[in-house]
Amino acid sequence: MNTTDRVDMAELELAEIEQHLADMQVPRFHGRQIFQWIYRRGTTDLEAMTDLGRELRETLRDRLVVGTPAVTKREQSSDGTTKFLLQLADGHLIESVFIPDTPSQTFCISTQVGCAMKCAFCLTARMGIIRNLTPGEIVGQVRVLLRELGMLGTRFNIVLMGMGEPLHNYDATMKALRILGDEHGLAVTPRRVTLSTVGVLPALERLATEPFMPNLAISLHATTEDQRDRLVPINRKYGLQELLDACRRFPLKRRNRITFEYVMLDHVNDTPEDARRLVKLLAGIKAKVNLLPLNAAAGIPFERPADSRVDRFAAILAEHGVTVSVRKSRGRDIRAACGQLITESTRPAAGQRLAERL
Ligand code: SAH
Repeated sequence: MNTTDRVDMAELELAEIEQHLADMQVPRFHGRQIFQWIYRRGTTDLEAMTDLGRELRETLRDRLVVGTPAVTKREQSSDGTTKFLLQLADGHLIESVFIPDTPSQTFCISTQVGCAMKCAFCLTARMGIIRNLTPGEIVGQVRVLLRELGMLGTRFNIVLMGMGEPLHNYDATMKALRILGDEHGLAVTPRRVTLSTVGVLPALERLATEPFMPNLAISLHATTEDQRDRLVPINRKYGLQELLDACRRFPLKRRNRITFEYVMLDHVNDTPEDARRLVKLLAGIKAKVNLLPLNAAAGIPFERPADSRVDRFAAILAEHGVTVSVRKSRGRDIRAACGQLITESTRPAAGQRLAERL
């Protein structure tokens, strides 16, 4: 039988696997065994799932498969950050990044091939949107990283901060989180997951009702509607004020806060006036601010501000009681840092390409 006729269990929640088995007249409890093999032991080969019994394995072999992205390249930064270039079944490439010792171990995962959000300073935006990832491809990145890094059985965090806008691929992202969270598999609790978004409002409102509620990070990046319209174009549809109102309504567990990411662009959005406006905008929101000094790249029409400007901005926030941190950029030497994920096949042709700067 052809692979495409087989059901890909990587795309399924445990209950769906059980249902498929039942449809094949196979007892449901084998679903849990298979799920444990896939997620707890990192096994994708049905032949190796020895507690299933030989006859059953033979029956299932022709009908089920566990699709997994293939590693085509692995690059390690001097700071330990490791970037994986993964190939999907249809040949598209995505990137996933392991960021060690922050102090936790963090996997930065993609949700789309490319991105539709067109943020002015982001390299992934240059790809445009190629397609959504499936739930299995989102979870598959975690499985591949666990295997490649020898980390099965260890604790890790997940940030949905790779390529793509998770709330622009809502259903697949939420299903992926349910698969990751299943207690019979990796059992990743919501507090170990952070979803970062530009603020696709209808999807954000929906997220507020989910049983699996990850930590929320908002890519704010500007303090006036005009400025945000230019930097984060979705603001023209869902404006800054509306976004902040939605954040005010967002249900937070006790002691939890929304992270506001703020990319710092030299002499664009990094002035003391911006800092003071940001303090006002965040009034009444349980917030913390994460400043991201721009990771510059060829073709990105902005500069990274001097440290003194970043420090001054941070100091103004702190003086007004806003918790602030400056993101230490990781993996810049291998182009694995924020906003630097872009896969080879879609880079501009050599003739158009500006000189590499990093
Ligand atoms: N689409 C989601 C998930 C991506 S997270 C979102 O935008 O939130 C990646 C983070 O890195 C976002 O906050 C993004 O704005 C930021 N970023 C993009 N380009 C950057 C760059 N060149 N330097 C620093 N941060 C950047």
